[in-house]
Amino acid sequence: MKKISMIVPCYNEEKNVTKFFEEVKKVYENHNEYKLEIIFIDDGSTDDTLKELKNIAKDKTFTIKVLSFSRNFGKESALFAGLKNAKGDYTLLIDADMQQQPSLTLKMAELLDKNDEYDCVCYCQENRKESKSMIWLKKTFYNFMNKISEVELKQGASDFRMFRKNVKDAILELEEYCRFSKGIFSWVGFNTIYLKYTPEERANGKTKWGFFKLFKYGINGIMSFSTTPLRISTILGLIMSLLSFLYLLVVFIQKVFFEVSVPGYPTIVICILLIGGIQLLFLGIIGEYIGKIYMEGKKRPLYITKEIITNDKESKKSL
Ligand code: UDP
Ligand code: MG
Repeated sequence: MKKISMIVPCYNEEKNVTKFFEEVKKVYENHNEYKLEIIFIDDGSTDDTLKELKNIAKDKTFTIKVLSFSRNFGKESALFAGLKNAKGDYTLLIDADMQQQPSLTLKMAELLDKNDEYDCVCYCQENRKESKSMIWLKKTFYNFMNKISEVELKQGASDFRMFRKNVKDAILELEEYCRFSKGIFSWVGFNTIYLKYTPEERANGKTKWGFFKLFKYGINGIMSFSTTPLRISTILGLIMSLLSFLYLLVVFIQKVFFEVSVPGYPTIVICILLIGGIQLLFLGIIGEYIGKIYMEGKKRPLYITKEIITNDKESKKSL
């Protein structure tokens, strides 16, 4: 019998977690070929999510573990904590808001069972209800990222994945602080099969990923997997230097041979503003990279667990 570790990050999902658990129960209760271990991560929720999760942990149908963080560390940290605690042959990442239907996960397990050559099954989002501008922005980001980085990101590929132990162990070896899991999945390699699914509407509540959070996440992704922005500054610096030198020659020739006295005030102002702007922009980019090095250098833990609740006797012993 194969054991599946289901990792569910939860941040303010009080109205969703019980519904989610009931749905999982419906899907897996009568499937004797899989043994389920559910790891809920309460990512510092400020509502009653933890209370609901404690109630769920009383259920004896599956092994249930609830890790409660001391504050909100973000979904990436929650997933990492889940991976650290996963003991199954297969590891599954799934959201708590029912956008990713638990019923779809059986197909993932069956695919891994039947095809030894696949290490990971990933669902790609299709027809996600989003504004046209958001769809365009995401598409541009993926194209840009694929051009400038060593990793290849697949359009619409989400965290909704199931993978074998070897993939999980490889991901855990990447202990970086600034995590961008889409890139990490691609970086570790392995054979991935992509399936399509249409995300459901969120059962309750609102998405935690507003425009600015996504923008920050995107920048983090670029910085984690590419140093091309730094190279652009070098190339742009070279071009600017060359142009300035050519202009210097023009001014010099005009002055010496043609006695042209150029008033030149607008040119100087434009040059100063342009060069100043570009310098500041790239100082900012370099600063961002230094900031990342600074954060990595501190070697802070990715999360702090406040409480662990489990219905598993074996796990209880080691707590
Ligand atoms: N989540 C989390 N920590 C956070 C933000 C989100 O654990 O800081 C969880 C959230 O509870 C949900 C999943 O990550 O289970 C996906 O979040 P959300 O539905 O807001 O993202 P979207 O589906 O809109 O991409
Ligand atoms: Mg969601």
